[in-house]
Amino acid sequence: MDYDVLVVGAGVVGLACAAALSATRSVLVVERHDGICRETSSRNSEVVHAGVYYPEGSRKALSCVRGRHLLYERCDRLGIAAPRIGKVIVALGDSEAAELEGLLARGRANGVEGLTLVDRTELRRLEPGTDGDAALWSPWSGIVDSHRFAASLEAEAEAGGADVLFDANVVGADSTAGGWDVAVEHGGSRTRVRARAVINAAGLGQPAVSALVGIDAYPNYACKGVWFAVSPRHRGRVQRLVYPVGRATDGGLGVHICLDVGGGLRLGPDFEWVDGPPFDLYVDPAKRDVFWRAGRRLFAWLEPEDLTPDMAGVRSKPVPGPGMFRDFVVAMDLPGWITLAGIESPGLTSSLALAEEVAALLG
Ligand SMILES: Cc1cc2nc3c(=O)[nH]c(=O)nc-3n(C[C@H](O)[C@H](O)[C@H](O)COP(=O)(O)OP(=O)(O)OC[C@H]3O[C@@H](n4cnc5c(N)ncnc54)[C@H](O)[C@@H]3O)c2cc1C
Repeated sequence: MDYDVLVVGAGVVGLACAAALSATRSVLVVERHDGICRETSSRNSEVVHAGVYYPEGSRKALSCVRGRHLLYERCDRLGIAAPRIGKVIVALGDSEAAELEGLLARGRANGVEGLTLVDRTELRRLEPGTDGDAALWSPWSGIVDSHRFAASLEAEAEAGGADVLFDANVVGADSTAGGWDVAVEHGGSRTRVRARAVINAAGLGQPAVSALVGIDAYPNYACKGVWFAVSPRHRGRVQRLVYPVGRATDGGLGVHICLDVGGGLRLGPDFEWVDGPPFDLYVDPAKRDVFWRAGRRLFAWLEPEDLTPDMAGVRSKPVPGPGMFRDFVVAMDLPGWITLAGIESPGLTSSLALAEEVAALLG
């Protein structure tokens, strides 16, 4: 089999690359599971981030803002739910309120539109179900039906002629005169695929795929996050994304409330360094009180019995601890071999912009 491009991984990033490239190139996507988005891409908050949090000029900032525009435009065009419900980043007390100023400045430097600081009265008007003394209002934050979004990328790639091979594991790769000779295990046998270029979009599997060609520059550290579902009796009580400002330093964005496009409410994700793969996706019910206390800071109406264990996801962190910034990596370290590394949040939001960057690297 010969292709112009072989993409490792049918998560949202690999699929975005396949969709972007399939119009002009022959593309094969190789995915070890039996369908798309079986790992991180189906275990996230489905938030379309505005681009407030990341250092000015970083790839995270640039691809988040660009990717958000591309994602909304695509979802509008294809009738995929992506409501711009907006986000309030809420402060309690003066010291937290001071942090909002820093976020406002950073967000504006990143080109995030419409950011404003609001006082307690305006916060209550925007989001009556929330307690807080002040907030940063981000009208362009939203949520997306990530499953339909990813399915649309697969459909576009296939319409462009791409092949998608499931239950197939990339287990080897050798450099050749014309590109790469890739070993794929599929259906109990090993197949060789020749491709001019390989895109390693393997998410948590990125270091193992990189190791096949001697790249060890991008280690992954795994950081699990779990969510608790909020009782459906509170459906409609919160209309916008509500994040705490003071908790954004733990390496995540702090336990927050998120909505799905069906109106369901979830609290999370938390932040726990874990070993793996394989990863244990169990949600420990004993965490309920910690979640309740975190949620109760912002939602006085929340009772412990409102929370039930929901799901877990694993972030692919490029650094081994909180408080250390490392940017997304999109790199061609070997001719025709592109690595996407450290694609943690806002990777869903940024996926279409990352795919543009990959296409530009391939020329
Ligand atoms: C707790 C949590 C919350 C998040 N919230 C948000 C959010 O609200 N907004 C946002 O923008 N982002 C969010 N993210 C980030 C977002 O989910 C990820 O950035 C994105 O899903 C990464 O997609 P990916 O395609 O790179 O990786 P993945 O979805 O992990 O896909 C990689 C694929 O590669 C396959 N693979 C690996 N190795 C091989 C191999 N050897 N052979 C074949 N296939 C292989 C895997 O099976 C997998 O399907 C969150 C992430 C987490 C964990």
